[in-house]
Amino acid sequence: MYDLIIRNCRIVDGTGQPWYRGSVAVKAGKIVKVVRENDEHSDREGESSEISSENAILAADSGAEPTGAAEAAEMTALQIVDGHDHYLAPGFIDIHSHSDCKILAYPTGESRILQGVTTEIGGNCGMSPFPVNPRYEEELSGYLRGWWEEDTFPGRRMSDFLKAVEEKGHSVNFGALVGHGSVRLAAMGFSDQKADAGQMAAMKDYVKEAMEDGAFGMSSGLIYPPGTYADTDELAELSAVMKPYGGMYVTHMRNEGLQLVESVREALEIGKRSGVAVEISHHKATRKEVWHTGCRETIAMMKEARANGQDVTFDQYPYTASSTGMDCNIPSWAFEGGVDALLKRLEDPELKKKICTQMEESHRGRWDEIHVGDAASRENAWTIGKSIPELAQIWNITPEEACIRLVVKERGDVKEIHYGMCDDDVEYIMSQDFGMIGSDGEGVPLDFHGMVHPRYFGAFTRVLAHYCRERKLFSLETAVRKMTGLTAQRLGLEDRGLIREGMWADLVLFDFDQLESTPDFQNPKVPSKGIEKVYVNGILTAENGRHTGAMAGMVLRRKG
Ligand SMILES: [Zn+2]
Repeated sequence: MYDLIIRNCRIVDGTGQPWYRGSVAVKAGKIVKVVRENDEHSDREGESSEISSENAILAADSGAEPTGAAEAAEMTALQIVDGHDHYLAPGFIDIHSHSDCKILAYPTGESRILQGVTTEIGGNCGMSPFPVNPRYEEELSGYLRGWWEEDTFPGRRMSDFLKAVEEKGHSVNFGALVGHGSVRLAAMGFSDQKADAGQMAAMKDYVKEAMEDGAFGMSSGLIYPPGTYADTDELAELSAVMKPYGGMYVTHMRNEGLQLVESVREALEIGKRSGVAVEISHHKATRKEVWHTGCRETIAMMKEARANGQDVTFDQYPYTASSTGMDCNIPSWAFEGGVDALLKRLEDPELKKKICTQMEESHRGRWDEIHVGDAASRENAWTIGKSIPELAQIWNITPEEACIRLVVKERGDVKEIHYGMCDDDVEYIMSQDFGMIGSDGEGVPLDFHGMVHPRYFGAFTRVLAHYCRERKLFSLETAVRKMTGLTAQRLGLEDRGLIREGMWADLVLFDFDQLESTPDFQNPKVPSKGIEKVYVNGILTAENGRHTGAMAGMVLRRKG
């Protein structure tokens, strides 16, 4: 007797291999049996509710053996679900999430589960709510402002944080990277200086500690202070600490615009010098000047590195607009000392002028790409969706001043949506076979108070509905592999990401024809259409756009 049988579905198993018609049996949270059905008996809906025992074969690896007739006929379960000939895939794995900052506040993670995501990796872009050095605890709160929603941190190290997550309970399986920015901050605050020997030793200890606590790697966020103050040497030395643990270097690179190629070169060098695998985060080209050419060069560089034996992959979200803190438009030197120090500098007319001049130079001709995504206060809610030049006109000031005014008014807590990419690049990058899908979102509920990028609720369904079904960039099997099997392999998750006996039963049943990534920039907090059932560790967690309330997620720690 099984706990659950999902039958009469087209199984896309996560390997990239062609789908097959079959049934999956689940017991104690795991896939315990996969049965392949004979196509001729089940090509019309409703006709295949009975598994044809004579034709049923085990859908194991190639060389599948016929199932004993008696065995298949006897397949019974506490619950039997008819898949209505829709697709059954492994639950999607989001390799690039920021849910470390939200999972304690919103453990049900609707934005993830309603689009079929059953596993996510937080701690990206250099940010993680650990390690915590009490001396710099306030700075860490400032660093994570707009992301982290708790009043305090659960403890000093990663294991304290994961324990808190486990105790609270959560719907989506969760693992994490340690953020290099958080590590640097714990060792030396927001200092923009090169780390001295003592500070390097402290940072290495923090990285080692996180690896021992089960981190999947270290992420860097090289546009954000304090990560931006680190040089290549520092990053390579810290990455080398991960080598014995099998951790990888995951990077939001120094520059995704005019210095895109140099930035990929730096990431590859860090990987080479440290001997660890490299994952380029949300790969893209954000400046018109490098559209069409930049990512062709970077993909070629990665392919060449791979051909030469360097383990490098990347992930990507499927949109031409990015989203980050509005304060990223302000020069990084102006941030030395954290958000409060920035606000102080902005009060000094001379320094403000210096800041404005730099901003004018760096943003000439592209302020109109930048729109307000979210303002923390109600007072400035009217600015949401407006471009910086629009605000400048309303306030009758320059675009630089408008950007600064909003950042100051919101005390740094304002997000932007930046229309800086082109679809040609997004598609070129996505069509590479060593790239994965990551949302760069967080787990938040449908009634979340803030504005979010549509990728929070819709990145995975958009890849399937738009880039796979409509644009036909690749087959459904390839699309699913990019968000399941490949990602699990990248993370060393040996018991997730495939529909195979022995795997945890993270499963998503969807109607491919009806699939629609409903969230958009105007209305981002809505469920995708066509995601019918989502199971986490064998437990039904979402059904047709509604969360069941189940909290069957597990904390994942890197094995090695
Ligand atoms: Zn990032």
